[in-house]
Amino acid sequence: MTAETFEFQVEASRLLRMMVHSIYSNKDVFLRELVSNASDALDKLRIEALRDDSLDADISDLHIEIETDKDARTLTVRDNGIGMSREEVVGLIGTIAKSGTAEFVRKLEEAQKAGDAGNPASAEALIGQFGVGFYSAFMVADEVTLLTRRAGEEAGTRWTSTGEGTYTIEAVDDAPQGTSVVLRLKPEDTEDRLFDYTAPWKIREIVKRYSDFITWPIRLVEAAPEGNAENAGEAGDAEKGEDGGKPEPETVNSRKALWARPRSEVSDEEYHELYKHISHDWTDPLETIRIHAEGTFEYQALLFLPARPPRDLFSSGRRGVQLYVKRVLIMEECEELVPPYLRFVKGVVDAQDLSLNISREILQQDRHIQLMRRRLAKKVLSTLKEMRTARPEKYAEFWREFGAVVKEGLLNDPDNRDAILAASSFASTHDAEGTTTLQEYVERMKEGQEHIFYLTGPSRSAVESSPHMEAFRDKGLEVLILTDPVDEVWVDAVPEFQGRTLRSIARGEAEFGTEEEKEREKAERERQREEYAGLLAWLAERLGDEVKDVRLSSRLTVSPACVVSDSGDATPGLRNMLRAMGQEMPEDKRILEINPGHPLITGLRTAHADRPSDPGLEGMAELVHGMALLAEGGLPGDPARFTRLLAERLERSL
Ligand code: ADP
Ligand code: MG
Repeated sequence: MTAETFEFQVEASRLLRMMVHSIYSNKDVFLRELVSNASDALDKLRIEALRDDSLDADISDLHIEIETDKDARTLTVRDNGIGMSREEVVGLIGTIAKSGTAEFVRKLEEAQKAGDAGNPASAEALIGQFGVGFYSAFMVADEVTLLTRRAGEEAGTRWTSTGEGTYTIEAVDDAPQGTSVVLRLKPEDTEDRLFDYTAPWKIREIVKRYSDFITWPIRLVEAAPEGNAENAGEAGDAEKGEDGGKPEPETVNSRKALWARPRSEVSDEEYHELYKHISHDWTDPLETIRIHAEGTFEYQALLFLPARPPRDLFSSGRRGVQLYVKRVLIMEECEELVPPYLRFVKGVVDAQDLSLNISREILQQDRHIQLMRRRLAKKVLSTLKEMRTARPEKYAEFWREFGAVVKEGLLNDPDNRDAILAASSFASTHDAEGTTTLQEYVERMKEGQEHIFYLTGPSRSAVESSPHMEAFRDKGLEVLILTDPVDEVWVDAVPEFQGRTLRSIARGEAEFGTEEEKEREKAERERQREEYAGLLAWLAERLGDEVKDVRLSSRLTVSPACVVSDSGDATPGLRNMLRAMGQEMPEDKRILEINPGHPLITGLRTAHADRPSDPGLEGMAELVHGMALLAEGGLPGDPARFTRLLAERLERSL
């Protein structure tokens, strides 16, 4: 049969080129990736066979085989798993159908140019986010041949490439079930003892290091010496043993389930390699969490908090943890075991008493699944809380990447609200760099302070320079600085924390201080209200179409005016967010607050009292309102008109 030649998708080809001209210091990981793929393929076949009795596949001896061949200078990784159809080979191996590939490749090339490529951690972190394990074969091989046949299908496919822009595909009649990947090793490596991947000791060492926990047997065989080559080949042959003249295959992995072994017997590295296999990430996890539940419903779990978010954290992607029943993987991505706001958690749950062929529909209702889900969520949250005090740097790193996701739970997991709040941290005016917890905030509250104050906005600097902050800064009242989009929403869903309500400083009347101070303030306000009655009425009339009310402010010290939302109304940030989500949001009119201590406002009061019908005052109301909108990062209703009015004023002042 003739082979057809295809071109790699552009991004795939660029990525490959980088692999070929290796950017890693540690090339050994190519084998980890191929073994991980083989293991996934065996898992998939077992799961599919479990679901579908009619699947024409042999599952009697599922295993991985690694064959070294010194004479041919090849290394072969074989599995008798699910295999791939021709379409799958083209789709999965020839293209990278993940969003943002182009962007990713650009970053990687930049890193390489900047000399950062010498730093394997940064390159691996980037690759890890993308998960392009198969291509890592080209770090050590100058030609890769993949022969595969999907379980249940007749025809096999051979794929070959040197990693330089094109690959060939050919139909094969007699391919064994599963996949074999043959690497023609780069000659320079074979000469270097350290990189001699045809040496059995080297393979043994790599497997032990990276893949020991793989549940399938990984067998190591050496190809028969030259002249005997026609006997070498298909998976299974190696089993024949003595009479075939071949050595008995050696199983090189211990296959021990890490989650079932006592903590003291497992090294951090072993946990980390399991994480990498499950998550397809190349970076160590930040935290490993173990759960051993005993009693009537027994299960073990090993959960990991990744260091970096996957690319698809906010879109659909790999979700959930692996579900095992008595050491047998029955579901690769069991979403039912972790709530959506913990969707970044990776790991394994192994239950003793679940049915092996439990369906998704039943899973959702299963009492035991619910029980585990609750326990897992609680354990992750309590670990976060503990991390914050015990390992603050790790916690900060975690929170920077995943905090916005965790806070989604404040909206949709009311049962765990307190635990989520306890695990959360927030930027605050108390500390220019670090974060605070609500607990710490409450402990620092001033005498007479009833509320936990916060302000939402697009960035820390925008929030800090907002006019709403002025009086709070003056009085030394701490304000939480909330800048994640989700912050606009959860603050309304959380009624209180330890009896203190959360209060936006850009909404409603600003009230603070002791009872005494409040009384004094109130009296002062009464007096001023009389003084300003004329100006307030005039402004309200002029701006009637745009604002709900005009009043004197107690939150301003240096700005002339600001706009605030009414107590029950949505803040502009929330409004924008809901609009972006496609929700109809009628425009609520807001309230203009003016600062009776500001010379512009006192001047305006005098001018208005002296010459109430001066046409020169006409535009002033709009200017004051427009400035207030600009100060909070918004725009005047009619920016062109605002600019014209301002230009006229400036002209007159020259
Ligand atoms: P990832 O494993 O993160 O998906 P890879 O580049 O390692 O990325 O593999 C790409 C895809 O190719 C896999 O998701 C799988 O669908 C397919 N694949 C790779 N190796 C095998 C194999 N040995 N058997 C079956 N499918 C495989
Ligand atoms: Mg892979």
